[in-house]
Amino acid sequence: MEKYPRYLTPDSQPFNPLEIAKKTEEIVCRNSMRKYTAFYTVGVYRGIATGYAVGCCLRCFYCWVGLGRDFPERYGEFFSPLEVVKNLERAGRKRGVRKCRISGGEPTLCRNHLLNVLKLIENNSWFELFILETNGILFGADEGYVRALTPFTKIHVRVSLKAGNEDGFQQRTGAIGKFYQLPFKAIENLFEAGISFHVAAMTDPRIMPKEERKALIKRLAEIDSRIALNLEEEVVDPYETTLFRLKKAGIKLAWYR
Ligand code: SF4
Repeated sequence: MEKYPRYLTPDSQPFNPLEIAKKTEEIVCRNSMRKYTAFYTVGVYRGIATGYAVGCCLRCFYCWVGLGRDFPERYGEFFSPLEVVKNLERAGRKRGVRKCRISGGEPTLCRNHLLNVLKLIENNSWFELFILETNGILFGADEGYVRALTPFTKIHVRVSLKAGNEDGFQQRTGAIGKFYQLPFKAIENLFEAGISFHVAAMTDPRIMPKEERKALIKRLAEIDSRIALNLEEEVVDPYETTLFRLKKAGIKLAWYR
């Protein structure tokens, strides 16, 4: 097993994200439980109850989530699927919102935990929608994982692309470049399985060259033109954790006013 990667630095060695997913799962998953740091409702998606999970298999230098991403052994407590859904429902009812998600890390880690949360959401009378935000690494590596989502009627998946080529992927996520194909494979798997989804991409021109953005959109259009047309494009925001990680990686960005 390779050394566990933290935030990126100019000396970081590229890692295999599937190996890091496994290593992270050893830290943040226990039976069907997963580590979380908090549950509350936030304003995105016009209000969504959110469970902040710990742990991810990428190390994007612009990432905004808490430092539990980099030091999962130090953050969070274990929650069962039932406790997670109860906490989400409490947060949702408090603000009258019927959507929920797991954020703060990669929700597809701890597969057993996620599938059990989805089962409970399916039978929950309060929630109408679960938005599954993912970097697409595990859904790209395992078509069977995507097929396991087909019984759930309340789920919408948002796949967030980090790059349109190998170099961009390695530079921004810290993972070995060739793995940039996995999130595209995840999109193909979701498309073929008929699951509701859309694609987002971090195409901020300060970090993604024009040619790479074009290649990313072309690749999406090759799967289906509607996926490319509905692309949600993201920009880097100056959250405290983002600024910290940019600094550690030695990246300087001009900030918009
Ligand atoms: S931006 Fe998303 S995929 Fe990238 S490190 Fe942060 S949580 Fe993981």
